Amino acid sequence: MVKGSEKKSKAGSEMRLSPLAAEVMVEDHVRLRKPHPCGSLDWRIVRVGADIGMRCLGCDHKVLLPRSIFERRFKSYLSHATNQI
Ligand SMILES: [Zn+2]
Repeated sequence: MVKGSEKKSKAGSEMRLSPLAAEVMVEDHVRLRKPHPCGSLDWRIVRVGADIGMRCLGCDHKVLLPRSIFERRFKSYLSHATNQI
């Protein structure tokens, strides 16, 4: 399997299973590794628990993923609410 044009972090932190994914919160916007059939990679989190509920920013489709699957597909945050008031 060949990795695409993914940048490697200069800090050398491996991004296999991002620990960041564990901090996901409702209203976060996240980018996943695989695109939704509509072509969008970006999702808004609508529910957090044992399962992660997400709404596609491209087509507004809602899905529920087990947390383990979510963490595997997670790529990065577009916006992340940890430090809010
Ligand atoms: Zn979609």
